[in-house]
Amino acid sequence: LGHEVLEVRKPAQLDGLDALIIPGGESTTIARLIISNGFQQPLRDFCASGRPTWGTCAGAILLAKEVDRLDRPGIEVMDISVKRNAFGRQVDSFEADLAIKGLPGGTFHAVFIRAPIIERLGDGVIPLATLEDGTVVAAERDNYLATSFHPELTHDTRFHQYFLAKVAQATTAAV
Ligand code: GLN
Repeated sequence: LGHEVLEVRKPAQLDGLDALIIPGGESTTIARLIISNGFQQPLRDFCASGRPTWGTCAGAILLAKEVDRLDRPGIEVMDISVKRNAFGRQVDSFEADLAIKGLPGGTFHAVFIRAPIIERLGDGVIPLATLEDGTVVAAERDNYLATSFHPELTHDTRFHQYFLAKVAQATTAAV
């Protein structure tokens, strides 16, 4: 989509970024690495600076202020409560076509891999997508975006564009 991407491995690399995507993976492992690499405060400072930050799956778990069964603190900046592995084991992973608020062009094919759900939305947090039973799987507030699923696993770039629009807005506001 014409943007420069940098893989962040050291806290100092956060300085030059306009935005951050925290990908999926295994949230307890990522939380452990955040702590052992001295990333926790720099990530909190990055988020507090208002720069757009998007957590997908494990990334969403790390952004949440409250998590069911995470054995150490994540970044804890977005006022949502998240339940890990809410659909069961890896074999219970699934795909679903979701209507996403703010995303034109029809439903979005969402890939859920041992995904969490968003159980509580704090004040001002907007649900962007729900499953048929009403379970929230994407939400947004201010500079934060959280998705239970993995938009990078399909060729549909609309969610990335949605995030980039947030980045453009934040960058303009900062000038
Ligand atoms: N189940 C993982 C966890 O709880 C998240 C899976 C993923 O990021 N796809 O950390």
